[in-house]
Amino acid sequence: MSQVSTQHAAQSLLVGTGTEVPLVQGGSTDYVNLDYAASAPALREVAEHVAALLPLYSSIHRGAGYLSQVCTEVYEAARTTVAAFVGARADDVVIFTRNTTDSLNLLARSVPGDTVVLDIEHHANFLPWLGTGGGRTVVAEPTVGATLAALEAELRRTTAALVAVTGASNVTGESLPLRRVAEIAHRHGARLAVDGAQLLPHRRVDLAATGIDYLAVSGHKLYAPYGAGALIGRRDWLDAAEPHLAGGGAVRAVTVDGATWTDSPARHEAGSPNLIGAAALAKACQVLGALPEAQQEAREAALLQRLRTGLAELGIEPLRIWGQEDDETGGAAGETEDTVAIVTFTVPGWTAEEVATYLSAEHGIGVRDGRFCAHPLLRRLTGAATAIRASVGLDTDERAIDRLLGALAALLTDGP
Ligand code: PLP
Repeated sequence: MSQVSTQHAAQSLLVGTGTEVPLVQGGSTDYVNLDYAASAPALREVAEHVAALLPLYSSIHRGAGYLSQVCTEVYEAARTTVAAFVGARADDVVIFTRNTTDSLNLLARSVPGDTVVLDIEHHANFLPWLGTGGGRTVVAEPTVGATLAALEAELRRTTAALVAVTGASNVTGESLPLRRVAEIAHRHGARLAVDGAQLLPHRRVDLAATGIDYLAVSGHKLYAPYGAGALIGRRDWLDAAEPHLAGGGAVRAVTVDGATWTDSPARHEAGSPNLIGAAALAKACQVLGALPEAQQEAREAALLQRLRTGLAELGIEPLRIWGQEDDETGGAAGETEDTVAIVTFTVPGWTAEEVATYLSAEHGIGVRDGRFCAHPLLRRLTGAATAIRASVGLDTDERAIDRLLGALAALLTDGP
């Protein structure tokens, strides 16, 4: 039996499962987490790794002492593991950051030219480009094919250095065919950056195979603790850029007049690095990389289908950017159309906040409500309204989906 084919086997992968939560009407119930897209609980192996590393606390890259050497080795091994997990090329560098937001801000300050983005992005992959003054927004069209054509038309119109797209929408779970986006960008002399925050927890991504030039990830979405992420990609722009932070470790030499900066990754990792965060992220990559990919995808696809079908039976239509495709589009990590297990919807007659509060207080179900740091997309999909997002993770099972559907059915029939 596979490691992820049953709820019990999957549960054993994660810490924090089986948590009891209080209910407003009294008593308690086991918590149903359908909010993995916000943050995923740590994998057990990650938690054990962190616990084992804590006694080793010592300086990195700066000490002759034994523990310093061990910490430096662990830190650099983490870099190698993350590189392998995403299929990094020989000229790619892994820079440890705080999270995806930090990674994309670093990249935005390193791009030697304009960046083209879509209007469907999480703010983390939108605001940094606007902030550079070189961000150009393309409005996503109703189909993937038309959206790719609009992207290409913009690249044809004027020169851009970079195209930056989400790997999977944090609102709808939908993915662009990244291999094709890379081909389009490269055809017009631009590189491709992918916001991997939502894609990586669900799909393996291979930079070399897909032609993605830069990838931004967050540890806390990948079943590691908060505080560490990475930017992985082509070294040349990063070595030519001003350091992300100025300080110790980023320099070759300093005089009273100024500094000569060193190359990446140290160039962008000034200050004492987050060893535990980097090691935890790497361990999560190692564990996720060893899971049976096809089975994991099939399990998620079945849960997504169950959720969509159940919502449809309640008369609830999930939000979609692209709706049904009218052409062959190619999936996120490969060649077929793809959506990761994230579903966002509204419930007629109720605000999103009311629904989310009801689900939590009366049923012990955790979902996210709001605009998901994607205001332009939400405005387009719902007008002024906020929405409810349910997202599936490694320990989600049919029972969790049915609890959500049952609670929504009760809300629609009886009210809270
Ligand atoms: N990009 C996407 C698609 C996201 O969903 C998120 C977080 O929800 C981010 C970027 C930002 O991630 P972080 O807060 O870890 O920087």
